[in-house]
Amino acid sequence: MKPDVYASLGVKRRINAAGTLTRLGGALMDEEVIAAMAAAARASVDIAELQEAASGTISRLTGAQAGIVTTGAAAAPTLAAAAAMTRWDIAKMAALPQAEGFANEILLPRIHHTGYAHALRASGARIVDLGHNDRGTGAGVRGLEPWEIEAAITPRTAAFAFSVNPGNAADLATVVSVCNPKNIPVIVDAAAQLPPKFNLRRFFELGADLVAFSGGKAIGGPQASGILAGRRDLVGAALVQQLDMDVSPETWAPPDLIDLKEMKGIPHHGLGRGFKAGKEEIVGLLVALERFAAADDAASNAALEARLEQIARRLGDVPTRIASARETGRVPQLHLTVENPVALSRCLQAGDPPVHLSERFAAQGVLIVDAQALRPEDDGALADALRKALNV
Ligand SMILES: *Cc1c(COP(=O)(O)O)cnc(C)c1O
Repeated sequence: MKPDVYASLGVKRRINAAGTLTRLGGALMDEEVIAAMAAAARASVDIAELQEAASGTISRLTGAQAGIVTTGAAAAPTLAAAAAMTRWDIAKMAALPQAEGFANEILLPRIHHTGYAHALRASGARIVDLGHNDRGTGAGVRGLEPWEIEAAITPRTAAFAFSVNPGNAADLATVVSVCNPKNIPVIVDAAAQLPPKFNLRRFFELGADLVAFSGGKAIGGPQASGILAGRRDLVGAALVQQLDMDVSPETWAPPDLIDLKEMKGIPHHGLGRGFKAGKEEIVGLLVALERFAAADDAASNAALEARLEQIARRLGDVPTRIASARETGRVPQLHLTVENPVALSRCLQAGDPPVHLSERFAAQGVLIVDAQALRPEDDGALADALRKALNV
């Protein structure tokens, strides 16, 4: 037995029935991924060459022209915004995050303005809100309309940002139809839109220029990994701003993804230098992505559903129902209707071991068991903790 690293740090292990949440450590990695990371840790490689190889794998599995491994999905919009503003202009790369001197505005529909908009702004870009949020607030039936996108585009516009979810893919097609002819890159945050695995390809098919996926959620890669994929020139401009660029002009041999001909010189460390992806994360993400792309969504959903039914059966008269993968747009979940969801969640988190359910629908009186990051051997302990907290 290996020593328990968390116990030696005095950190509690938690029963995670809340999903692949970043604050709970994301997904649990498969042995094959862990072994690949360990092997990667034992050799020196050129990180740029490794990212170029990553690009090949990401491209094959997503249909995108190119892709790089980032430090989580939240790093990807920062790099994407930087690339959209600078393209291959190294003077602009050197200026970031001071971007007032050039086109630095990113159009962001109000209905898509999430907490992750910070990641765009961190590049030096300025967010320009657009449209109304009638569909989001329930005040009306309309979301985004082509005329308002058209009217918002000015010479200061560098990109359009879109936060995709199971219900708004049609709007993405609208955005692309307006932005694409005007050469305005469309940056899509699809961090948590996997599974279904066809979403790996879907947003590129809809015409997105750059898409961010989290590597540490459903893909099952290292927690601190993500993917930025899309148009080859933009991905290359993002990569060169992420790499360690303390290189000598006489000896530096960048991979093809970095287009030396397009640059007036060799850029220094860029805005993304603090977002370095390590060799272990890059290799781990690629192995996890291969596994994810080869997996059978229907079979893994059926297995999850069987476990949720088993847990529900142990909860007696507590009103529960399974929300299917079709209904959630991702994976099946178990919904528990309870009297005081916040108090119950607090009580579960204070337990020994602490238990986490998803609080996404707490305002509607529902707590959710999302078993994506729940170890099957913890199913029984989860049911025990729920029975105890619910007094059943
Ligand atoms: C989780 C998430 C992110 C961030 O992903 P990380 O891999 O944790 O950086 C960004 N956007 C959305 C919508 C997310 O759900």
